Amino acid sequence: MSEHDKIRELLALAAADALTSAEETQVAEHVRSCISCSNELDAWRPLAKELHRFPTPQPSSWLVQATLARAEAKLTDQAEHDWNRRALIFFVAFAWLLAVADWLALQFVSRRFGSLLDPHFSQTWISFAAFTALGWLAGGVAAVMLAIRQRGERSLA
Ligand SMILES: [Zn+2]
Repeated sequence: MSEHDKIRELLALAAADALTSAEETQVAEHVRSCISCSNELDAWRPLAKELHRFPTPQPSSWLVQATLARAEAKLTDQAEHDWNRRALIFFVAFAWLLAVADWLALQFVSRRFGSLLDPHFSQTWISFAAFTALGWLAGGVAAVMLAIRQRGERSLA
């Protein structure tokens, strides 16, 4: 198979931008010195242009790579948002559970030992207050962390 025949088979693909860069160079070099191939390539070009108008993926390696990169960026973005939402749900649920457990324990202690205002139980009362504060602090810190994280993402975008 001569160089001319080999190149001729690649012309349609060349017009559609579907060649590797090595093949592209080969075609470009041959077309410069071969009028027959040059004319055929010109004949293919308008057709390839029409093909590109269709919304189906074209066999262009550049286009495929750009699409893959976009899809990957979108997936990473999605994963990040999922993480933020899961973290927020977890910390809110955690703070809420602490508050409920706290309230139940408080009920149990007050029924068993009487008034919590009794000075003998002031220490117990303080530890419960600290426990509640810790729960709300965890929720608050989580909310602040998420806000900072989201602001950082926005400034990077
Ligand atoms: Zn030729």
